Amino acid sequence: MREFCSVHTHSTFCDGESTLEEMARAAFAAGAVSFGASGHSHTPLPEDQDGVLPLDMTAYRREVLRLREDYAGRMDVLLGIELDNCADVTAEGFDYWIGSVHRMGIPDGSLRTVDWSQELLEAWEAFSRDGCAMAASYYAEVGRMAARKPTILGHVDLVAKFNEDGRFFDEGDARYRSAALEGLHAADPRETLLEINTGAMSRGYRSVPYPALFLLREWRDMGGKVILTSDAHSASAIVWGYGEAAALARAAGYERAALLTASGWRESSL
Ligand SMILES: [Zn+2]
Ligand SMILES: [Zn+2]
Repeated sequence: MREFCSVHTHSTFCDGESTLEEMARAAFAAGAVSFGASGHSHTPLPEDQDGVLPLDMTAYRREVLRLREDYAGRMDVLLGIELDNCADVTAEGFDYWIGSVHRMGIPDGSLRTVDWSQELLEAWEAFSRDGCAMAASYYAEVGRMAARKPTILGHVDLVAKFNEDGRFFDEGDARYRSAALEGLHAADPRETLLEINTGAMSRGYRSVPYPALFLLREWRDMGGKVILTSDAHSASAIVWGYGEAAALARAAGYERAALLTASGWRESSL
């Protein structure tokens, strides 16, 4: 990989461990073409308040713009946001946004967090242990998010985060696959990049990046581009697992990946 970027990152402004300055420094030291801050968007949910950006994002914006000045001419610094499906803010005024579903509805009408094992277990029970029905609820949300044309569609099969051993559903099941593909088909490959995300690897939840190969192959058939991201929550994870992510992209038939820069996105050899 000759060139790469790191534009899915979290800092102490949301639920990350490192400051934005430390994240930018790590990206520059790793040789990234661009660094993007993508703090978790604010939501009205009480349980979120410690791990998301405040409603007033002025300080966050200022710090990203300060870093942009600091790195001018050396590395592009982009102002982004990871917009949750329950967000009560918009991505207006940001350079780019990552559209990510972290919650799904369950049969009683309430929401459960997808990327926390205990809540996923509760959701699975609520769907009478029908993991494919649970996944269908998640992918319906993904489809709604994808239809909003995010710059990047985030961790599209997050519902499989805790499913490497197949405990909730069989990822080869036709019901699972058709729900996942339906969600993906709502994305516009001319407007949206699909990320290959190594975040769950760096935190020890998964041994391979998102998404599954069948989704990547479908995206390629749709004419879609991919971007490698680390979903880093610490400076040490800034380009974690990019070799594995590139290998997955190649396995899906990709020879190039997209880079997000100050002048939009362009492609570079994997
Ligand atoms: Zn996320
Ligand atoms: Zn993230």
